[in-house]
Amino acid sequence: MLLKIVQTGDPVLRQTGRTLSKKEILSPGIQQLVELMRETMRDAPGVGLAAPQVGLPLQLAVIEDDAEALSRAPKERLKSQERRGVPFHVVINPKIELVDPTPVTQFEGCLSVSGFSALVPRARGVKVEALDHKGRPVKIEASGWYARILQHEIDHLHGTLYIDRMHTRSYSTVENQARHLEGLPLKELKDLLAIKE
Ligand code: ZN
Repeated sequence: MLLKIVQTGDPVLRQTGRTLSKKEILSPGIQQLVELMRETMRDAPGVGLAAPQVGLPLQLAVIEDDAEALSRAPKERLKSQERRGVPFHVVINPKIELVDPTPVTQFEGCLSVSGFSALVPRARGVKVEALDHKGRPVKIEASGWYARILQHEIDHLHGTLYIDRMHTRSYSTVENQARHLEGLPLKELKDLLAIKE
């Protein structure tokens, strides 16, 4: 069974999710939610899905950047994105620290802003402390694309979408991004779209 992914404009995407206790995490309801979110994310397909995106204001997100799917993507693109596979995992009640705040700007999309994409600057490296799907504390250190995914998903848990952080002039349909913008160096993109900052 797939869950319905809500789209921007739904107020649930603008709320801060509530934290979950260990007992709640181990409950059949949350365990089933994790399974359904995994299926929904894979079906979309996406590399992350946060509970508010399925209408639930909870501090829970699932993440997976499938290594097998990535092996079919162009190598140069993966390199420029600093992107490697990330196995499926769950982050609950996460606290994020930007350990390498160097901004990296890449095109980013969101399953709740369907059909669009934009340039979003993100910190290059982060450290996250969270609970996993069994309620156990975990520490994650990430850089590059994985750090971007974590920042994007944790933003969702605080009512923030990438459109709040994007270079507004780069906001583009996925089709036009692929047609006109894909693969261009940042400097050229900024010139082409007349992005000043
Ligand atoms: Zn999103």
